[in-house]
Amino acid sequence: MNYIILGPPGAGKGTQAKKIAVRFSIVHLSTGDMFREAKKSNESISKLLSSGQLVPDEIVVNMVRKRLEKNNIKKGFLLDGFPRNVKQAEELDRILMSENIKIDGILLINVPFEEAVKRIVGRMVCVCGVSYHTLLLPPKESGKCDRCGGALFHRSDDKEDVIRDRFSVYEKQTKPLIEYYKESRLLIYIDGLKSESDVFEQISGCIIGGR
Ligand SMILES: [Zn+2]
Repeated sequence: MNYIILGPPGAGKGTQAKKIAVRFSIVHLSTGDMFREAKKSNESISKLLSSGQLVPDEIVVNMVRKRLEKNNIKKGFLLDGFPRNVKQAEELDRILMSENIKIDGILLINVPFEEAVKRIVGRMVCVCGVSYHTLLLPPKESGKCDRCGGALFHRSDDKEDVIRDRFSVYEKQTKPLIEYYKESRLLIYIDGLKSESDVFEQISGCIIGGR
């Protein structure tokens, strides 16, 4: 089973993707992970990413192509972070055709902007790697990590104006992408306003139902 997962920042896409991959024993193909990996060995990509610039389509497409040519995806995969625009979607279709791979569904997690902001601005992290949320997952003692006692902080890209920019970029790119996929009848709308476990059950149900 091969799926694509789409959703705005704050939709919990990455979290859901990881859980789905485990539950259905498929490979989580995350472009975010691919970038982090490439950053270690590829200097030009590393420079691009640290300057905050977008990685050009050709580079992303090539990364995805290499992963889709590997044998470990034969049992199935969940593509996360790609495609981001129509051009990438067209390239993906070409790759899929040449590799003889069929997509079973495109999961689109919908979350309104206000909710995304609420979720993201409340995020707090510790240097030890534990994450918290001031409303949804607060630490026992305000501002302090439960595990190591370290001071919690907000990541710089979790500020409201940064989220607003990322959200509007997502909307601008995704609208035509959704139009592009509408004809294929593969789109599956997921209500991202529900709790993390409810969203997970919704998605699992669609996959089990073959839709
Ligand atoms: Zn900590």
